[in-house]
Amino acid sequence: MMKLTFLGTGTSTGVPYIGCDCETCLSKDPKDRRLRSSSLLEINGKNILLDCGPDFRQQALSANLKKIDAVLLTHKHVDHTLGLDDLRPYGRVRIYANQETNDAIHQMFSYCFNNDYKGIPQLETHVIKNEPFMIDDIRVTPVLIWHYKLPTFGYRINNFAYITDIKTIDKEETEKLKGLDVLVMDALRWEDHFSHMNVEEALALVREVQPKETYFIHMSHTIGLHEEAQKKLPEHVHFAYDGLTIEI
Ligand SMILES: [Zn+2]
Ligand SMILES: [Zn+2]
Ligand SMILES: [Zn+2]
Repeated sequence: MMKLTFLGTGTSTGVPYIGCDCETCLSKDPKDRRLRSSSLLEINGKNILLDCGPDFRQQALSANLKKIDAVLLTHKHVDHTLGLDDLRPYGRVRIYANQETNDAIHQMFSYCFNNDYKGIPQLETHVIKNEPFMIDDIRVTPVLIWHYKLPTFGYRINNFAYITDIKTIDKEETEKLKGLDVLVMDALRWEDHFSHMNVEEALALVREVQPKETYFIHMSHTIGLHEEAQKKLPEHVHFAYDGLTIEI
């Protein structure tokens, strides 16, 4: 049994968008307040964080997150990485990322490496390739996706996969998404975008790989009010919202 908590389900700007007066940004419904995308997976007594963006501190406080064993980074963009400094209270944390992401965090957080000052997070970085690897007894399979031209990793663990910031995916990689109970994936907005799938493109991938349940993340304010937007989705496909917890 695994437990997934959606810590954030918003795009890089978050929702509300600063200064915006649209009905979604002005909504009082907590489901319309979206922090930057990140989730927590609890499995075999381990807490695995999926991305660690600029809202991480607030997310960790809301979820009363007392330990983190590992972080799986999807790509180098700051809405997925900028919270790494706030891992300080957790002691040594293993960070898994592809080469490009690893290089970027070594640059962004250079003070955390080769430094014996105590006031820094202890980041133990591991570079991963597009092949399965183990976090203790947990087998993780990367799924290569394309975020426009940026190679980005989704991750599959057992019958669950987490795919954020995707525009396209190669045929052979979609095979890794077959037979899922839960797919979490990027669906930025209704309109097209050059580096993210819109809802229609995301639904096409859902129809192809047929997960039992799908939860969309990384939404823009233009997706509209959660309650209204949800009515436009087929059965077994949901817009996730911050704080939602599911068992897998
Ligand atoms: Zn993003
Ligand atoms: Zn707005
Ligand atoms: Zn991105």
